[in-house]
Amino acid sequence: MITAGIDVGSTAAKAVLLKDKKILGWAMIPTGWSPQKAGEEVLQRAVDAAGITAADIHRVVGTGYGRVALDFLDKAVTEISCHAMGANYYFPENKMVIDIGGQDSKVILVNKQGKVINFLMNDKCAAGTGRFLQVTVNGLGLELDQLDRLPPAEPVNINSMCTVFAESEVISLLAAGTAKESIVAGLLKSIAKRVSTMAGSIQENVNVTFTGGVAQNRLLREMLARELGVEVMVPPVPQIIGALGAAIIARNIG
Ligand code: ADP
Repeated sequence: MITAGIDVGSTAAKAVLLKDKKILGWAMIPTGWSPQKAGEEVLQRAVDAAGITAADIHRVVGTGYGRVALDFLDKAVTEISCHAMGANYYFPENKMVIDIGGQDSKVILVNKQGKVINFLMNDKCAAGTGRFLQVTVNGLGLELDQLDRLPPAEPVNINSMCTVFAESEVISLLAAGTAKESIVAGLLKSIAKRVSTMAGSIQENVNVTFTGGVAQNRLLREMLARELGVEVMVPPVPQIIGALGAAIIARNIG
């Protein structure tokens, strides 16, 4: 049986096709202005990548904020349940999932079957999200995928939690001659601290699976591991874990 999971997020739309626990293909595109179009297109791209046709798909489950715009779903499921299930595919022993996407950050406690036991979500404020990182890093004239290639540096203290204030703090630090790599390390540390506080408030000392687009940053993963004092494991493509979870849930229905 082939199932599809589609995650239309605030920034990126992702689709995964699954057959008997094997990932057949996946795709990712910017969400853009129309969640519905993005959902349809990303599914078609995953179908092309897998070398199948849309008629081969038995069931489709949607997630992400844009799921309400998709009218061809068999079921819509929260991102919390999907990230829990997707993380379980790679690291079933880990009891915690930390997901940092474009617009929110989540800490989820899971059991060995990938079911949610408890969760906390920050979606009220951009601090500790991909948006915060994107805006402040662009203020430095850098792109997100360059961050891991910067030379190691002592993190400078970033005091502003609000994205708008942090952006002007970054400009002041640059004007004062602070090295870009120290500012980047400071920004990442402020995210790591914020998310670890959230994680520590629901459970301490459990290994973590780190998902979402921001999990691609190696330095942040290391900082999170240090702050939490646990192992932080990242799946091969952390940004598609919500869509993968949706495809697994589609397989488990009925
Ligand atoms: P959403 O589901 O809300 O669209 P995603 O999980 O798809 O969120 O993640 C999108 C976010 O990932 C973007 O806001 C961006 O900040 C972040 N991102 C993308 N690439 C990288 C990277 N190489 N390093 C760190 N963050 C990244």
